[in-house]
Amino acid sequence: MCVDRPLLSLDRAFTYDLPAELEAGVGSLVQVPFHGRAVRGWVLGPTDDVPKSVLEVKKVVSPTRWFDEAGLSLCRWVSERYVAPMAAVLERATPPRVAAEENRGRAGWRRVAPVALPPPVLEGYREGPRLVEAIVAGGPGAWVLRPAPEHESAVVVEAVARCLGTGRRALVIVPEAAPVPGTAKAIAAAFGDDRVARLLGGSKRARYRTWLDVQAGGYDVVVGTRPSIFAPVPDLGLIVVGRESHPALREDRAPYYHVRDVALARGEIERAVVVMSAMAPSSEAAALALPTVAPRRRSWVPVEIVSPGPEGRAPRLVRALRESTRAFLFSPLPGYGIAAVCRACGQPAACAVCHGVLRSSEGAVRCVVCEAPGRCRACGASDFGLRRGGQERVEEWAARVASVPVHRLAADDAPRLPTDGEVLVGGPDDVRDFGDAGLDLVAILDADLAGRRPGLTARERAVTTWTEAIAWARPGGRAIVQSAQANDPAIQSLVLGDPARFHRDERERRAQAGFPVGSAVFRVVGDAHLADELAALEPITLLVSTAEGQTVCLLALDPGSVAAFGRQARALAVRDVITRVEAEPHL
Ligand SMILES: [Zn+2]
Ligand SMILES: [Zn+2]
Repeated sequence: MCVDRPLLSLDRAFTYDLPAELEAGVGSLVQVPFHGRAVRGWVLGPTDDVPKSVLEVKKVVSPTRWFDEAGLSLCRWVSERYVAPMAAVLERATPPRVAAEENRGRAGWRRVAPVALPPPVLEGYREGPRLVEAIVAGGPGAWVLRPAPEHESAVVVEAVARCLGTGRRALVIVPEAAPVPGTAKAIAAAFGDDRVARLLGGSKRARYRTWLDVQAGGYDVVVGTRPSIFAPVPDLGLIVVGRESHPALREDRAPYYHVRDVALARGEIERAVVVMSAMAPSSEAAALALPTVAPRRRSWVPVEIVSPGPEGRAPRLVRALRESTRAFLFSPLPGYGIAAVCRACGQPAACAVCHGVLRSSEGAVRCVVCEAPGRCRACGASDFGLRRGGQERVEEWAARVASVPVHRLAADDAPRLPTDGEVLVGGPDDVRDFGDAGLDLVAILDADLAGRRPGLTARERAVTTWTEAIAWARPGGRAIVQSAQANDPAIQSLVLGDPARFHRDERERRAQAGFPVGSAVFRVVGDAHLADELAALEPITLLVSTAEGQTVCLLALDPGSVAAFGRQARALAVRDVITRVEAEPHL
C-alpha cells in the first residue's frame, strides 16, 4: 500500500490486510488506518514480507483502478529517478477524482481500426523509413525527429497512422492546451473526434471522464498536455513528444518530472516506440545519441543575420518590413523602455523601494522587481529619461515603416498569428504551434540579450523559441535575425535550421559550469549536516548555500548514482536532515 502522505520520510510501502469481499486490487484507492487516522491509500499489490500484526483496509474509496502493473512500474520509475515520494507521483499521474463520473456508463472498448495512410513524408527523411519500420514492427525504440517547419504536424500524423495500422494505440504529448496546438488539430482532423481523446484542459469532470474512457479502450489516439504522459492507454504502440524542448514539459511541482524522460521509460516498459519531435531539439535529447530523423534535403527558411542598427532598426530589416504584408516581429522584452536617469535630480534611475530596474510599460513606469510605481531612489520624483526598447517601442517604429497596419500582442492577449495584411509584434510567450503559418517575414530582434539572461538554460530556451518563430515564415518567406555576433553557435543554428553546433557548444559550456548535459540535478534543502552527507556521494558538483537558516545544496550526479542518492535521501528525511528534494531545478 502507498499511503497518501507525500513525504520522503514515509516513502515506502505499508502492509495491510485486504479483505477479499472489498473486490480491490492493484490500483484501487482505499481507506486505511494510519497512525490513528483514516487515510487514503493506493493498493500496490501483494507482498510476502508480512509483519506480525497488520491492520485491515477499511473500505474502497473509488471503484476506479487508478493504475495497472505497467502504470505502477512507470510511477515507481518516476519515484526513483526524481527522488520523489510515490504518493506525490501517483497524485500527479492520475486526474482529480469526480465521484459522479464513476456511475456513468463507460465508452465501449474499441478495436483499433487501420486508417488510410496520409501522403508519406517520412520516406523523404534521413532515417525516416527506419522509423516507420520500427513503428510497424513494434517497439521499444526511441528517435529524435527534427521536422521541416511545413511538416511539423504531418510527420506526427503519419507516425500515428502507421501505429494504428498495427492495431496498437498512440499517445501524443503537446506542451500547451490553449490555443489548441496545430499538431493536436491535425490529429483530430486526420482521425476524427470519435477516435481521438483530447486531454487539453477542460473541466475537471470532463478530464476525468475522458481519462476513464481512455482507460476503457474507447479511443485510438490520445492527445494531451504534460500529465497525459501517464494516461492509461491500453495497447500503446507509439508515444510522440511534440516540441520536446518546450519548458512546459517539465512538471514544476513534486515529482518534478520531465515528459521526455518519462516517455522513454514508458516506451521501455510498454514496448512502445518513442518519438521526440522538435525543430530545435534540446541538448538533453541530443545527448541521448538517438537516431535523428530529419529532412534529406535542406528544408529551412533563408535566414539573414544583420547587425542591430539604431534601436535595432537595421536598414535591411526596415526595407524588408516595408515590403512585407504579413510579418511577425519577435522582441524579447515587454514595455517601451527602461528608466535610465531621473529628470529631477539627474541620478541614475532605480526603484525607491527595492533599487530594482524601472520599466515604462503601457504609459506607466513601474519597478520590474517589486512592481511599485516608479519613484526615484534619490529624490522620489517620477519623471525619467528612458532608454527606449521593447515590444511597445518596436510597435511604434515599425508602424512608421510598414506598409500594412502594425499591432502588438499585449500580455493578456491570446497568442495568434498576424492576419494577411498585418504586422504583429510579440514576445516569447506568443510563439506557439499554430500549424501552417505562411508569413513572408519573421524578424528576431535583440537576439544578443539572450546571452545575458541569467540561468544556464536561457540560451537554449531562446534558440528553441527563435527556431519555432522562424518556422512561421512560409517556404518562400524569409527571416532576419538581429545580432552583432553572427558566429555565435546559437545564431548559426538559426541560419542552418539545425542546432547541432549549438549543442556541442552547450555541452562544453554546461560541463564547465559543473552541470553536464545528461547529469541528474537536484536542489536539496536540509539542516547543517546536509552538505557533508551529500559530499559522501561523490557528486559531479555540489554547491552549498544557506537560506532562511537552512542549507540549500545544488547537486549534479551521474545518472548511475541517483538510486544511491534516493536511498540516502529517504534515510536522511527520516532523520530530518533533508526537508525537501527538487529534481531538475531550472538552472
Ligand atoms: Zn522595486
Ligand atoms: Zn531623482
